[in-house]
Amino acid sequence: MYDYDLLVVGSANADLVIGVERRPAAGETVLGSDLVVHPGGKGANQAVAAARLGARTALLARVGDDAHGRLLLDSQREAGVDTVGVLVGGAPTGVALITVDPSGDNSIVVSPGANGRLTPEDVRAAGSLFQASRVVSAQLEVPLESVAEAVRHLADGGRFVLNPSPPQALPAEVLAACDPLIVNEHEARVIAGTELGERPEDWAEALLALGPRSVVITLGARGALVAERAGARVRVPSVPVAAVDTTGAGDAFTAALAWRLGLGESLAQAAGYAARVGAAAVTRPGAQESFPTAEEVAAL
Ligand code: ADP
Repeated sequence: MYDYDLLVVGSANADLVIGVERRPAAGETVLGSDLVVHPGGKGANQAVAAARLGARTALLARVGDDAHGRLLLDSQREAGVDTVGVLVGGAPTGVALITVDPSGDNSIVVSPGANGRLTPEDVRAAGSLFQASRVVSAQLEVPLESVAEAVRHLADGGRFVLNPSPPQALPAEVLAACDPLIVNEHEARVIAGTELGERPEDWAEALLALGPRSVVITLGARGALVAERAGARVRVPSVPVAAVDTTGAGDAFTAALAWRLGLGESLAQAAGYAARVGAAAVTRPGAQESFPTAEEVAAL
């Protein structure tokens, strides 16, 4: 009865990457490598990750009427994402200008561009997409008021998953809809808004007190912690792999978890699957290029 397993509401960026010997100081010019352009943005990443696993996926986003926008539309379609909800125009496509030095340290400037123009009105106009989707997943690289509008349009029995990145204080209405709220340590500390100690179990209690139905804390190579308001706290082990590049691991984890929840798995089961997807993603460089198929996850 649902046309989509997952509707992702979020950002789409072109990542413009230049390798440099040394990142420039104020007033300085340095020469770098040839420019490499990758499709990125947390929304676009999540949609590609889900579709590659086999989820019927749609993306609600805004890109510019420009070459970067076309790159993003192409990469979504190539992965099998339905782009009927990708709006075009209003501002240039969002870009991230990334310089990386030989040690892997980077400096990043983000221009949100069209992502900042995904309005609550755009979300309202996409009401039929919400009604057709079992699970809706969002992040915070688009305006918070648009994410708040999204939770007002969930299908009956529809589920909402939020990765609040970049983190900021969340309104009660959004928090109450999260099932789960998915955070890493940094996001947990900002969202909780109080001093948190060293135990992820304590962070989970602090976050649950803010109102979400459940919380998942991702812990990189240490796996994840799952905590449900009315349920147990479960540690999900990570899958040991040789990590090459952790870019996008959180996006792959979130997309996989959202999809598996929609299939009827428990939060702990879905997080276990998502940990395998996150692990597979860190074994390859890049973000979208690193996301595994279901067959590759099964082979891990
Ligand atoms: P974020 O990128 O949002 O900070 P994490 O780094 O916590 O997210 O990664 C998300 C998930 O991906 C983790 O919970 C874990 O399951 C998996 N993961 C990340 N890094 C590794 C790693 N080095 N080895 C195995 N799994 C990993």
